[in-house]
Amino acid sequence: MWNRREVLSGTTLALAGLALAGHAEAQQGAAIPGAGAPAGAAPAPFVLPPLPYAYDALEPAIDAETMRLHHDKHHATYVAKLNEAVATAPELAGRSAEELLADLSKVPESVRTAVRNHGGGHANHTLFWNSLKGGPAVPPGGRLATAIASQFSSFELFSAQLVKSAGGIFGSGWGWLALDAGKRLVLVTTANQDSPLSSGATPLLGLDIWEHAYYLRYQNRRADYLQALLSVVDWGEVGRRYDQAVGPA
Ligand code: MN
Repeated sequence: MWNRREVLSGTTLALAGLALAGHAEAQQGAAIPGAGAPAGAAPAPFVLPPLPYAYDALEPAIDAETMRLHHDKHHATYVAKLNEAVATAPELAGRSAEELLADLSKVPESVRTAVRNHGGGHANHTLFWNSLKGGPAVPPGGRLATAIASQFSSFELFSAQLVKSAGGIFGSGWGWLALDAGKRLVLVTTANQDSPLSSGATPLLGLDIWEHAYYLRYQNRRADYLQALLSVVDWGEVGRRYDQAVGPA
């Protein structure tokens, strides 16, 4: 079993851990008729990472049925469609979803939109699952806490701005805490499954603002969902991403 940190570091490492366990499934995936893979092509490279906790681990903030559908159906579909896309572009073999998203101009135009949408869906959700945890909420510590206090005055003001930013999205998208090229914390939003990586920023925490993320329990009460979601953020993990992104102190 791969450990949580590997999954957290990105889909490349997650894939390394999954290479053995997922080999047979991946081969089956590549063999689906109509997927467009040429004969002898490498097995479908992307696999759905398992949730790092039980479906009901985030109750009552996020209900188990939402988690089951969100992970097993929605995320799985992004992975399947990403595999369909890259199967028609062998030059992309071996590239992680994050690498593809960080420079979409290098992705052949024939599959660029599919990689942007489904590669983004895969990378965003992988980060998302590993940004959450059940149990008592613990605020950020370490260098991330210092940066938040420096840029936003307090964690409370920061949280309010994050909710306001994410809650302001029209339609489907993601609210992000990210690190810009100057290593400053920024609150940004993206439409659909677009990734901050495509704009040169490093995502630290993504809040899924698609209705599929909350509609079963919260219906149209998106603000309530966002407040609940913040209560299950694993700030320790977000802090580790921050430390990794800014480098040695
Ligand atoms: Mn989602």
